[in-house]
Amino acid sequence: MSYTYDEAMKDFDPVFGIEVHVELNTKTKMFCGCANEFGAEPNTNVCPVCLGLPGSMPVTNEKAVESAIRLGLALGCSIRESSRFARKNYFYPDLAKDYQISQYDEPTSYEGELDVVLDDGTVFTVGIERAHMEEDAGKNTHVGGSGGIQGADYSLVDYNRGGVPLVEIVTKTIEGAGERTAEVARAYVATIRDIVRGLGISDGRMEQGRLRADVNLSLRPKAADGEDQSAVPFGKRSETKNVNSLRAIERAIHFEVGRQADLLSKGEPVVQETRHWHEDTNSTTPGRSKEQAEDYRYFPEPDLLPVEPSREWVEELRGTIPEHPAKMRARLQEEWGFSDLEMRDAVAADALVLISDTVAAGAPAQAARKWWMGELARTANEREFTLPELPVTPADIAELQGLIDSGRINDKIARQVLAGVLDGEGAPTAIVEARGLEVVSDDSALEAAVDEALAAQPDVLAKIQEGKVQAAGAIVGAVMKATKGQADAGRVREIILARAGVEG
Ligand code: ZN
Ligand code: MN
Repeated sequence: MSYTYDEAMKDFDPVFGIEVHVELNTKTKMFCGCANEFGAEPNTNVCPVCLGLPGSMPVTNEKAVESAIRLGLALGCSIRESSRFARKNYFYPDLAKDYQISQYDEPTSYEGELDVVLDDGTVFTVGIERAHMEEDAGKNTHVGGSGGIQGADYSLVDYNRGGVPLVEIVTKTIEGAGERTAEVARAYVATIRDIVRGLGISDGRMEQGRLRADVNLSLRPKAADGEDQSAVPFGKRSETKNVNSLRAIERAIHFEVGRQADLLSKGEPVVQETRHWHEDTNSTTPGRSKEQAEDYRYFPEPDLLPVEPSREWVEELRGTIPEHPAKMRARLQEEWGFSDLEMRDAVAADALVLISDTVAAGAPAQAARKWWMGELARTANEREFTLPELPVTPADIAELQGLIDSGRINDKIARQVLAGVLDGEGAPTAIVEARGLEVVSDDSALEAAVDEALAAQPDVLAKIQEGKVQAAGAIVGAVMKATKGQADAGRVREIILARAGVEG
């Protein structure tokens, strides 16, 4: 490609939109009682309804409706008083019914707005056109060849995902982001991810396909000086499907901007089509030419009642919406007194909720941060877990810190106790008691240990008495060894100096 992203920005103005599909974490599927679970044996979570067998009747999952409404509210949308499901007809082997139950002209949520905060603090407002409910399709696996259907030896289909509840969020056309287009797109999807996590309706894990983004993009030539940009017509757009990481969103936009700028500058047309993103080559290749809505022959789903949430229920749900993730971050940073770097690291490590819960359980914020970003981050890294997957709770960490703060254990013992918690031995206090790890705070026991150590090293005692107070370190070390690390080193030092008759 001859055009780089930055060069293209001099001649063209990108116009884009994003569709995000979020898989909801309900216990059961959208229209049947099958388990909604990731990673089960293929075709075990299926029934006549989600396989679309003749005579089966779907029933709407109330929890999925609740999650969809809460998400709509978090996106600043209006909630329709009555919305119908619609059949979106298309034939593909991952869709046993030959249609997907979705929503068409009556989406549950419509006309919203979401503030997206960029890295430098700039706020970009993205218009939300709609957020509608639908069911997911199954999953095809093409075996042999390069993994695509072309050249495959055979294909497998797993219907476990068929019928899993989704919310599809569609933005309005986004203009005016200029060279920050890729950054806005990434920040928008990251904000959606943070919102669904904050709502507790999905874990938003893109690498497992629970949050998937399609990015459509077109370029229009920059207006000449003194001309009105809005008078310049939009170009033809491409839609890059299933871009499954935040980094890939930025890269896919960089690639498409360059590719389209090349075509347009040569006077060649941009074809309106879907394109596939390839992580290995950082490029897109053509898929099918884009269907129009009429190709899907949408019609109202006759087997389901309309969704008619009462206004009282909607208002009740509105009360459960957490604050915007960026606002929450700013507030927590202020409350906790974290530096920008500490905050950024905690966000990147997915540790905010954990730290917040640890603070709520009684630990000081900096102590909570040090545990999660230090010892626990290392352990997670070693075990190839994410922080939230570690077998330790914020309450455990608060309890552990409480044991330190009350002087019952020291930092060194705390790390042993934490290892015990991670190995499933129980809660921190129980481990301290079971293993007898409490700090020796009984002065007479410490005095005896100090006397013994001093008697063994009379030369050290002499040095301390000559004023070389730092020599006391050797005795502190001996006492710590004798008490298996369970002494309070500060107190031991005080006792040594008192015994030697010098001031600390
Ligand atoms: Zn089912
Ligand atoms: Mn969809």
